Amino acid sequence: MSGAAPLLKDVFGFDGFRPGQEEIVEAVTAGENVLAIMPTGGGKSLCFQLPALMREGVTVVISPLIALMRDQVRSLQEVGVGAGALTSGNTPEETDAVWEGLEAGTLKLLYMAPERLAAGSVMGMLKRVGVQLIAVDEAHCVSQWGHDFRPDYLRIGELKRVLDVPLAAFTATADAETQAEIIQKLFDGAAPRSFLGGFDRPNIHLAFAAKNSPRNQILNFAAARRGQSGIVYCGTRAKTEGIARALNDVGQTAIHYHGGMEAEDRRIAERRFQQEDGLIVAATVAFGMGIDKPDIRWVAHADLPKSIESYYQEIGRSGRDGAPAETLTLFGPEDIRLRRTQIDEGSAPPERRSADHARLNALLGLAEALECRRKTLLEYFDESEVTCGRCDLCDNPVDTFDGTTAVRKALSAMLRTEEWFGAGHLIDILLGNETDKVKQRGHQSLPTYGVGKEYSKPEWQAIFRQMMGRDLVRPDPARHGALRMTDAALPILRDEAKVTLRRDTIKAAGAGRRPAVKAMVNEEDAPLLSALKAKRRGLAEAAKVPAYIIFTDRTLIEMAETRPSNLDQMAGVSGIGAKKLDSYGAAFLEVINGEAEMMHPQRMKLAGRDAGTLYDQLLEKQTELSRGALGTEKPLSCSASLLAKIAQLHSADAGAIERILGERRAERFGTAFLGVLRDAD
Ligand code: ADP
Ligand code: ZN
Repeated sequence: MSGAAPLLKDVFGFDGFRPGQEEIVEAVTAGENVLAIMPTGGGKSLCFQLPALMREGVTVVISPLIALMRDQVRSLQEVGVGAGALTSGNTPEETDAVWEGLEAGTLKLLYMAPERLAAGSVMGMLKRVGVQLIAVDEAHCVSQWGHDFRPDYLRIGELKRVLDVPLAAFTATADAETQAEIIQKLFDGAAPRSFLGGFDRPNIHLAFAAKNSPRNQILNFAAARRGQSGIVYCGTRAKTEGIARALNDVGQTAIHYHGGMEAEDRRIAERRFQQEDGLIVAATVAFGMGIDKPDIRWVAHADLPKSIESYYQEIGRSGRDGAPAETLTLFGPEDIRLRRTQIDEGSAPPERRSADHARLNALLGLAEALECRRKTLLEYFDESEVTCGRCDLCDNPVDTFDGTTAVRKALSAMLRTEEWFGAGHLIDILLGNETDKVKQRGHQSLPTYGVGKEYSKPEWQAIFRQMMGRDLVRPDPARHGALRMTDAALPILRDEAKVTLRRDTIKAAGAGRRPAVKAMVNEEDAPLLSALKAKRRGLAEAAKVPAYIIFTDRTLIEMAETRPSNLDQMAGVSGIGAKKLDSYGAAFLEVINGEAEMMHPQRMKLAGRDAGTLYDQLLEKQTELSRGALGTEKPLSCSASLLAKIAQLHSADAGAIERILGERRAERFGTAFLGVLRDAD
C-alpha cells in the first residue's frame, strides 16, 4: 500500500505488518469508522499511530490508564513523533509543551484519559485544535458487563457527535455482547467497519498441566527462565505473597501484587515491574490493565483462569515484542469446582450464568485438549487456518484411550449414590476401598463397588477431572460440591456416544530436578546479547525510562544474531527506525564492533596468517572511508566475511575486488583496498 509501509520502516523500524494491521491502517487512514478486535500484544497501537501520521490534523487517543499513556507517549517521542498526553499526572512543563505542540501544529497524537471529557470546555477545545480522528483504546471499557467498565467512556459517543470525525475503536475482547455494546455506545449504533481475527500470537508457546505439586511446578517453570521478566497469576491474594516469597527464597527477584494492597504500594510494584529487567510478579488478575511491558517473556497461571477470554488476555501480555514467550497454565478439579461455584453463586442473571458456564467449558476444553492447543484456542475465536508447532501437545502428542466404559462406571457410581458425593468417595467405591465412610453408608453393597480396579486412584482422579472438564458432571454448591450429572453425559450413559480421554502425564512430571535455564539465543551469540543488554540498561537508566523504550528484546536478539557492522546494516534490524538509528545506532554498533574486534569468527580464522594482518589493514581503510573520502556521505561498510574474502585474494586484482564487493562498495573502497593488497605483494 502507498505511504504506510515506508513510514512503518522509517519511523517504527518494522519490516512488515503483523496479521490484520495493514487492512486496519488502510481503513483508518481512509477515514472509515473502524472497530478492530485484536489480541493483546497483536499491535493495536500501531493501527492508530500510523494513520495519525498519515492524516491531516491531530488524532485524539482515549485511553484508560495514565501510566500506559505516558509510556506510549514516551515511545512515540523516542521515534520522533510529536505526541503528548493531558493527564492529571502531568508536570506544568509537560502540559505547556503539549499546548505549544498543538499551537505549532507539530503534535500529531494527543492522549487523554476519559475523565477529561467530563470538563465542559474540553470538547470545544478539541474541535479548535483541529482533531480529525478519535482513537479509542481498550474500547470494551464502555461495556457495563465487563469488569473494566469506565463510566466516562460513555462520553465518547458525544465527543464523536460534537467533532463529527471518524472514530477507530480497539479492544482485545471478542465476545459478541461486548462488540454490540461498543457499536451502540461509541458509534451510535451505526455499524463501523469491523476487523475481527488475526488472533494468532505465533511467538507464544502454549502449555497446560494438571496440578500435581503446584508450587514446585511454578518454581521449576520460573527457574528455567531465570533472569527473564514473568508474571505468575494466582487465584488468591495469599497465594501471590506465598509464591513471591518462595521465588525469592530460591534466589529469584519477585514481588507480589493484588487488589488488597495500598494504592501507593500497587503503583510502586507496577513501576518496578515496568522499569526493571527480569523481575517476576506474582499477582491476582488485578494486575494487568496498566501493564504494557513488551518484553514479558513468560506468564504462568498457578490457578485456572476464569474463561478462555481471560486466559488469552492474560497470557497475551507476554511476548508483545514478537520475541519467543512461554506460558504454563495449571489446573485441577479444585479450580473447576471454584470457578463453577463462582458462576453459580454470582449475582448475574440466569441467562448470563449459562453463558459463563459455556465460556468456562471452552477453557476446560482447551485444558483437556487431545491435540494442538493453538488449533483448539483459535477455533474458539473462529479461526480455522492454524499452523502451530508451538504448544506442548505439538511438542509431545498425548496418549489417548477409549474412556467410554470408565466414564459410564463413574456415572453409575454417582447415580447409585444419588449424586450426593464428591470424586474422592466415588473413587473409593469404584476401587472397592473399605473406608469408614463406605461402611457407614453401606456402599460396599452397591453393584458398582469395586468395579473400577483396572485403574489406579490417580488415574481415576484424572478421569473425574476430565469428566468435569467436559462438563459431563458438575459440582453442586447446594450439596457441598457433590458431583451431579449434566445432560451432556446422557448419551454416554446410554451408550450412544463414545468418549476419548487422555492419559495423564502426572507420573512423569513434578520430579524435584531443576530444569536447565533456557537461553534466548544460541551459545555463540549469548555473550554479545548480554553486552547489548548492559548497554541498553545503562542508556535506560540515564534516561530514566524502561529498557524496552530504548530497544525491545527482539531488536537486541536480532542485533546479536546478525551482527550489523555498520549503520546501514543496523538500519535493517527490526525495531530500528531513523530516529533510533540516529540516537543509539552508534552506541550499539560500538558494542558489536568491540566484540567483533576481540573475537570475530572471520578474523579468528585468519589469525596468525598474513591474511590476518591484511584483514586488519582493510578494516582500518574501511573505517576511514565509511562516510566517503570527505566524510560527508551516507555510511557504508563491508561485512567481516567480505573483508576476509578480500584478505585472502592471492593478487591485487581490481576486477576480483569489484566482484566480491559489488558496485556500490567497490566504488567507495575498491581503490583503497587495491592499494592495501599491492603494498602487501
Ligand atoms: P496491543 O495490541 O496489546 O496494544 P501493542 O500495540 O502494544 O499491542 O504492540 C505490541 C508490541 O508489538 C509493541 O512493542 C510494538 O512495538 C510491537 N509491534 C507492533 N506492530 C509491529 C510490527 N508490525 N512489527 C514488529 N513489531 C510490532
Ligand atoms: Zn500446537
